[in-house]
Amino acid sequence: MENSISGLIARARKIVIKFGSNTLADGNGRINLSFLEEFAAQAAALIREGKQLVLVSSGAQVAGLSTMGKWARKQDLHYKQALCAVGQVELMGAWGRAFEPWGIHIAQILLTRDDFGDPIRTLNMRNTLFTLVDERILPIINENDSVSVEEIKIGDNDTLAAQSAVLWSADLLVLFSDIDGLYNKNPKEFPDAELVDEVRDITAARASIRIGGSNSFGTGGIATKLDAAEQVLSYGIPMILAHGGRPRVLEALREGTQRGTAFLA
Ligand code: ADP
Repeated sequence: MENSISGLIARARKIVIKFGSNTLADGNGRINLSFLEEFAAQAAALIREGKQLVLVSSGAQVAGLSTMGKWARKQDLHYKQALCAVGQVELMGAWGRAFEPWGIHIAQILLTRDDFGDPIRTLNMRNTLFTLVDERILPIINENDSVSVEEIKIGDNDTLAAQSAVLWSADLLVLFSDIDGLYNKNPKEFPDAELVDEVRDITAARASIRIGGSNSFGTGGIATKLDAAEQVLSYGIPMILAHGGRPRVLEALREGTQRGTAFLA
């Protein structure tokens, strides 16, 4: 069944895929290893077909908390940053093991807002991404939370994913969250909320929906997802927002059996 989402995936060669913390964590606040394994199998299939992928993965804090549980209540900024430093290693270890059976090496890229503002760094990042992907290595980007204080933070990985998609000249950005897409109102608060299948005009979409709150691990909420869509669309890059927790979601989206929201350029 061809719909706009399956068509976008079929046509794209360079795809950036972002996971929110809520997608990566299980019900017990740990990294969901079976999700990572299931995703890796589907991603490997896309790569075998000749598509190129770059991942943007949140989850350092979640992974850090499951390792250093006794730090859970520490509010001190240095502890939070230390937690991300511990968790980032756990997170990448988990991704590495998930892709290992498919013979795919991963590479970690940690970025801050300054990196995108500096033309030399931007060029270096771009070249590194191109080199990694050409060598069939899977880059996994995250914000460098251990060095990012508020003033230099990008702040949410939706924006980081959008900037990365633009930087790498991707053909498609996919944001996986814990909701099936954009709704006319927050589906967590309103069971009768209706999914919007396609968005062609972000300004009109913003005006016609109600934005509700997000939950504990999520940082950006739906507002940053709309901002991300606006940013990539201005470069002609379409975006898909979908529920990362749906069974074999990447395949289901490709086959048109799973709904989501397509933001079309
Ligand atoms: P993630 O961690 O996956 O990036 P967030 O928690 O930051 O996700 O943002 C997604 C959340 O935004 C959803 O769980 C949902 O509760 C909330 N939300 C608020 N308003 C809307 C809306 N109109 N449509 C969809 N989601 C909404």
